[in-house]
Amino acid sequence: MKYVIALDQGTTSSRAVLFDQQGRLTASCAMEFKQIYPHPGWVEHDPSDILHTQISTLKGVVEKAGIDPKDVQAIGITNQRETTLLWDKQSGKPVYNAIVWQCRRTAPLIERLKADGLSNVIRDKTGLIPDAYFSGTKLQWLLDNVEGARARAEKGELCFGTVDSFLAYNLTKEKAHVTDATNAARTMLFNLRAQQWDEMLLRILDIPPSVLPHVVDSAQVVGMLDKAILGVEIPIAALAGDQHAALFGQACFASGMVKNTYGTGCFMLMNTGSTPVVSQNSLLTTLAWRVDGTPTYALEGSVFIGGAVVQWLRDEMHLIQTAPESEKVALSVNDNAGVYLVPAFTGLGAPHWDMYARGTIVGLTRGTGRAHIVRAALESIALQTRDVLEAMARDSGLKPSALRADGGASANNFLMQFQADVADLGVVRPRITETTALGAAMLAGRAVGLWSDVDLNRIWQSDCAFTPSMAPAVREQLLAGWQKAVSRAKGWIE
Ligand code: ADP
Repeated sequence: MKYVIALDQGTTSSRAVLFDQQGRLTASCAMEFKQIYPHPGWVEHDPSDILHTQISTLKGVVEKAGIDPKDVQAIGITNQRETTLLWDKQSGKPVYNAIVWQCRRTAPLIERLKADGLSNVIRDKTGLIPDAYFSGTKLQWLLDNVEGARARAEKGELCFGTVDSFLAYNLTKEKAHVTDATNAARTMLFNLRAQQWDEMLLRILDIPPSVLPHVVDSAQVVGMLDKAILGVEIPIAALAGDQHAALFGQACFASGMVKNTYGTGCFMLMNTGSTPVVSQNSLLTTLAWRVDGTPTYALEGSVFIGGAVVQWLRDEMHLIQTAPESEKVALSVNDNAGVYLVPAFTGLGAPHWDMYARGTIVGLTRGTGRAHIVRAALESIALQTRDVLEAMARDSGLKPSALRADGGASANNFLMQFQADVADLGVVRPRITETTALGAAMLAGRAVGLWSDVDLNRIWQSDCAFTPSMAPAVREQLLAGWQKAVSRAKGWIE
């Protein structure tokens, strides 16, 4: 038997997942690591935690499965996106902690870019709405705030990279300084159409080109795993940001195909084919992946609070004891009885974009009970998702034939059925819901010739399909109630 391993370097944990030649998930190993909050709004990771947990889980999964590492044909890396590292080219030693995507420290730098009227330029070139979330201003901050960093960078002594890049550098015997196009597309420094670093943006953000990694395809051998790790050399054959890997792992290979990950937040990506679609609805234009030198583009929309509203019901409101219990409680009532919950705890993301919105429950009556609130909370995940889906369909002019679902909350059958009903679109949950890891493995397996495109289509298998069955009049009423509730939540804080 031959195998492929995916390294899934996430925000709170590192995982290694073993897939066999048939694409079956055979074993996995995960380790959490420390979150560092040096100031309110700042988030960092210790780079050595990232590296060591990732190496330990890689060794751990091989040991757990009891396989011979010689049978591993390829390793694919997928990663938390935008998180920014800067390290010494000679020693590989980071000059500072990793600045995590959630970190808001560079918000003032973004305000300056906006005040200088650069929003449209950035949008046109990168597909992104300028934000502290992306790597560009994080790198700028490192160069300007770590003593000696800028001077050393100018001399070509430092390497910048996102987590994929940092892992590739440290895991390959060649010390490959590379990043894939999907990760590059999240830096706010990469020209989406030209598929290369953008000179003008580098000048604007004052980034010396010498620090930048070489941009490679998402499915491409970038180097060999250092023999010291598993005793054999294995090709590292894929790099891709987590959401992009998930889109690939959901086999959304054709234009118009769309996946939504129901995790803490919700992340939706739609494959839009060979041309980038400029959004009229504040969605991001990004890369789906780059394979065989050909970029495939995507639209992306995220919802800040998805499964997190279920955690809130459990931990803060104590309305349920476990997340799965929410399904039974929601189904204990026939409908929401006019109650809507807008979980705008941290503002609203796509397509509403209102950072002043706050959480709201409306439509309460004397008869409202716990089950109505629980139901309204689950419904809000689907209703927010439906809004993003609508925006994507409008922007792209493409009507998806189904929504492919994954992530922790996709296990909730009530949520999946309600999603199909309010979106008036079939929802499909695959057999392997670890789509991020699967996608990284699929990209790597393809790069080394283990799997053809036909094989990749065979690896993805539907487990459960949810068909819309709601009467149009009921849907209309629900959507009208929801839009009204959203309008109440907007602009709440001054
Ligand atoms: P992340 O990768 O963002 O940590 P996961 O994909 O692991 O998230 O999903 C965890 C989220 O899914 C949590 O917010 C949890 O509340 C929610 N969740 C898990 N199981 C269920 C369920 N059966 N019903 C509803 N929500 C669930």
